[in-house]
Amino acid sequence: MTLVDTPERRQLRELTRAFVTREVLPHLDDWERAGEVPRTLHATAAKVGLLGVGFGESVGGSGGDLLDSIIVTEEIIRSGGSSGLVAALFTHGIALPHILSSGNDDLIDRYVRPTLAGTTIGALAVTEPDGGSDVAGIRTRARRDGDHYVVNGSKTYITSGIRADFVTTAVSTGSGLSLLVIDKGTPGFTVGRRLEKLGWHCSDTAELSFVDVRVPVGNRIGEEHTGFLAIMQHFAAERLSLATQASATAQRCVELATRWCRDRSTFGRPLASRQLVRHRLAVMHTRAEAARAYVHEVAARVAAGEPVVTEVAMAKNVAVAACAEVVDAALQLHGGFGYLRDAEVERHYRDSRILGIGGGTTEIMNEIIAKGMGL
Ligand SMILES: Cc1cc2nc3c(=O)[nH]c(=O)nc-3n(C[C@H](O)[C@H](O)[C@H](O)COP(=O)(O)OP(=O)(O)OC[C@H]3O[C@@H](n4cnc5c(N)ncnc54)[C@H](O)[C@@H]3O)c2cc1C
Repeated sequence: MTLVDTPERRQLRELTRAFVTREVLPHLDDWERAGEVPRTLHATAAKVGLLGVGFGESVGGSGGDLLDSIIVTEEIIRSGGSSGLVAALFTHGIALPHILSSGNDDLIDRYVRPTLAGTTIGALAVTEPDGGSDVAGIRTRARRDGDHYVVNGSKTYITSGIRADFVTTAVSTGSGLSLLVIDKGTPGFTVGRRLEKLGWHCSDTAELSFVDVRVPVGNRIGEEHTGFLAIMQHFAAERLSLATQASATAQRCVELATRWCRDRSTFGRPLASRQLVRHRLAVMHTRAEAARAYVHEVAARVAAGEPVVTEVAMAKNVAVAACAEVVDAALQLHGGFGYLRDAEVERHYRDSRILGIGGGTTEIMNEIIAKGMGL
């Protein structure tokens, strides 16, 4: 029995699988076309106890730690869901942690509890049109004016930005970065067009604009100028979630390709009977399993409080590379069908391309790894 294979965690897998089968699979194609998941899905996920996994019961969550969140992510994808669905339904996984660790009860009551109850939706806005990798270079400014900040600037590529009721927003407050929670509907805050993308079609992505937006000082998360550190600290969970999405997508694609190669015959024999194909599937399976094992190991170390910034970056890159290789091979093994919208593998091929870009690109991960090596 491994850390992620306890009786409780097996139950969590079953709960997730049942949720996906009942609440997601019959509708996923419609949501892909609509460009978003319905708000009711958040309430349903909260009701069965999935939305709050990884958040303490004292703040309205269902308990559990990072490994439990990882299991939910893994099982959503392995039971036929998608990384796009994870991004859309679990955006609070990146929007709430900063608020929680600030320990501000007022913000926790106003934003964390209703979001974990599935009645409000939050987003995290760090990236700007001028750049996402250089977090310290953020240009959206917040000028103090009495008991308010006046915010000017813009953000882009914001997941759930179209639907979000509030946005945890990184702003420059002069000599450092700060985080402000900005409510939808605040005068001067406008949500731009729905951005069209290669994949993650069921996850809405938006541009946000702030023109003289007055935000109460009470909506600041933590102390002024502590935003950069907070963002960096919470990157670990986001990166491991993306790494998990990659390793789970790889696993799912091995399963899809294996099934296909058993059923599909060419030249009078099943594809799976050919040594070349069998070895290809064996290599894909090995890549996916190795990535998964490493992601689990690093996640367990993060959950135990170890400072493993370099390992998190390596886990993301290992899983993303494995996923890219496996998904490409899985599509190829499906032949022409793999290129059709009807094929699940086609969606994974498009969806997985973002995993080496979001939450810090592969190149930025390599920078972190190089620093960790003392270079
Ligand atoms: C679908 C989607 C959802 C997203 N969701 C969110 C969200 O919810 N919230 C949010 O804040 N952001 C979000 N992002 C933004 C994402 O985090 C950024 O796109 C990412 O961090 C890269 O930033 P950038 O696009 O500005 O690329 P840039 O920073 O302009 O980089 C461009 C290229 O240059 C490379 N590069 C940059 N600097 C270096 C360097 N020093 N050395 C070598 N190479 C370098 C990068 O790796 C990349 O390949 C999302 C993006 C997408 C596409």
